[in-house]
Amino acid sequence: MLPYGRQSITEDDITAVTEVLRGDWLTTGPAVERFEADIASVAGLSGRAVSVTSGTAALHVAYAAAGVGPGDEVVTTPLTFLATATCASVLGATIRFADVSPDTGNLDPDAAAAVVTDRTKVVSGVDYAGHPIDAVGLGRVAHEVGAILLEDAAHSVGGSLDGTPVGSLADVTTFSFFPTKNLTTAEGGAVVSRDPEILERARTFKGIGMVREPERLRRPDEGAWWYEMPELGLNYRLPDVLAALGSNQLRRLSSFVARRQDITDRYNAAFAGIEELQRPAHRAGAVPAWHLYPLRIRDGRRRELFDHLRDNGIGVQVNYIPVYWQPYFEDLGYRRGLCPMAEEYYSQEISLPLFPDLTDSDVDRVIDLVRGFVGA
Ligand SMILES: *Cc1c(COP(=O)(O)O)cnc(C)c1O
Repeated sequence: MLPYGRQSITEDDITAVTEVLRGDWLTTGPAVERFEADIASVAGLSGRAVSVTSGTAALHVAYAAAGVGPGDEVVTTPLTFLATATCASVLGATIRFADVSPDTGNLDPDAAAAVVTDRTKVVSGVDYAGHPIDAVGLGRVAHEVGAILLEDAAHSVGGSLDGTPVGSLADVTTFSFFPTKNLTTAEGGAVVSRDPEILERARTFKGIGMVREPERLRRPDEGAWWYEMPELGLNYRLPDVLAALGSNQLRRLSSFVARRQDITDRYNAAFAGIEELQRPAHRAGAVPAWHLYPLRIRDGRRRELFDHLRDNGIGVQVNYIPVYWQPYFEDLGYRRGLCPMAEEYYSQEISLPLFPDLTDSDVDRVIDLVRGFVGA
């Protein structure tokens, strides 16, 4: 089965990992510090990112750092992976789903504006398929009610909008380094922000809430062993073994992004002018780091096309089932019909294979199957 996404690993990556295995630090060592500086730099920031063990952990850490808790509301898109919403739910917040723009599938600023209240703590957009959110529009909506804008950039590390890299667009940005994403550490993620307070709280939360710096201690004179826990936290530390893989992968990030664009162009050219098919939108000023190729089929035969491709060895996916359709949210009273644009997008969408090592001939095989299906 040809997968819809997969990692690209070189001998060089393997060497970078085995070097760490032979060294002194398997975790919390120099490879982590280097990777955190590397990620900050890709995000257009100085200093260090806060590395964590997954994109889900990054969202949990970011919401915790933003102070999200019971009584707060978080506004987000239903066209995303569960974690964008549920990491705020586990902190006790109420999720307000707002609809997406029909072209990009990204959180629509007008829809978000309609559901924010003075209890909104965070507005969370997702760079769906790798296309950056309307950060200016969403930022305005968030800031007007005293909330912050979070960008779930699990799909879009390496992208930019109007010349600003993803990571510098929102108040806080999260990344995922799962193998299907744009670069990998096997499991991993990161939080970046320009706000030193958010970064410090994120770093504390991912380190079990422990602090040792004398100026942060309530009782600084107890001894050199002393640490304190001013707030709760968890252990989300990314090991050096994986951070080394990440830094080495980052050296190829621009070639990954370029190859993803090439494949996207090849699909786009092949599906141009076919009535039943809608290609992913690409707004002016955006440089998407295409994580997905979300093809939409508009004749009601999504399931048939999906099964046809799977039956022919093409490991297509659907991204995403509207999050509030999940039993957890249904049991809380969320109902189908809440976000019609996202539901329509979902009902038409199929993610075609897209990853840097995908060959042109494999792309053409997928194209032939899709075109054949719609009789083009
Ligand atoms: C993959 C993904 C996540 C979660 O990342 P993990 O590393 O798998 O935990 C969160 N949000 C979006 C949009 C994702 O695609």
